[in-house]
Amino acid sequence: MIKRKIFSVLGMLLLILLTACGENQTTQEIKEEKKLQIVTTYSIIFDIVENVAGDHAEIYSIVPIGADPHEYDPLPEDLTKTTDADVVFYHGLNLEEGNGWFNKLIDTAGKSKNVVHPVSEGVEPIYLETLGQTDDPDPHTWLDVSNVIIFAENVRDHLIEADVENQEVYKKNAEKYIQQLEKLHTKTLDKIQDIPEENRFLITSEGAFKYFEKAYNIETGYIWEINSENEGSPKQMSDVVDLIREKNISGLFVETSIDRRSMETVSIETGVPIAGEVYTDSLGKEGTDGDSYIKMMESNLNVLYQGLIDGDD
Ligand SMILES: [Zn+2]
Repeated sequence: MIKRKIFSVLGMLLLILLTACGENQTTQEIKEEKKLQIVTTYSIIFDIVENVAGDHAEIYSIVPIGADPHEYDPLPEDLTKTTDADVVFYHGLNLEEGNGWFNKLIDTAGKSKNVVHPVSEGVEPIYLETLGQTDDPDPHTWLDVSNVIIFAENVRDHLIEADVENQEVYKKNAEKYIQQLEKLHTKTLDKIQDIPEENRFLITSEGAFKYFEKAYNIETGYIWEINSENEGSPKQMSDVVDLIREKNISGLFVETSIDRRSMETVSIETGVPIAGEVYTDSLGKEGTDGDSYIKMMESNLNVLYQGLIDGDD
């Protein structure tokens, strides 16, 4: 209590000083200096953190939009930003650590683990099914919206840790964002349920939809399981072709951040068309229908709905 009073007295003094200066630019500069410096590993986390942090942070995102967060070569600027960051948010669960780029970056930047947080903390992992990898979690937890509610809560708590003065803002922003996520989750449940059960099968290049499958009651299949592979082996290609024939699947999907050539080959071989593009590991570029997490999930939902209902024509 006493501390808070001292702070508010100091705050008043500062305000008087600033007013006395009368220079807009000076006020601006001081405000900017106080902003939290945050680094996020890729665009989806960037968007979630931005929703919770609002104007109180400067956020730098490492992996560019459209690129693959599983594998990445950090640039000198990424290292500088990471070195200077007050807080670093990454996904965790075998996403950025799968190929080691992120751990190396954090080591090189000499970052204390106390300010480096996996947003997926507390999410129940689903494990990979490929032989030899079954101890590794599948990282694509964000494709179940209820997991992103956990992300938002984690981000809120760590922002408060780093900047307790603005805790009310972070709480309010998180609450508002979580309400939108809850709506999106329900909408996704309802809309997938409207797809006839026999059509509810989602084939993509990478097996990114396991969490989506579990949450929204739709079956999934893939060419390769995780992007450390990148391209279907002959065995993987023939397995997915068999699956598509066996299940009488009418539409295939390609991911915006993955080379579509393997799926094109599968489409030619099976005669099943590519019914649409879905967002998995990256947001869409600014101005597209997937330029925020909520928009990318809504776009996926529409593309799946149209593709699986109308897949035959
Ligand atoms: Zn992926």
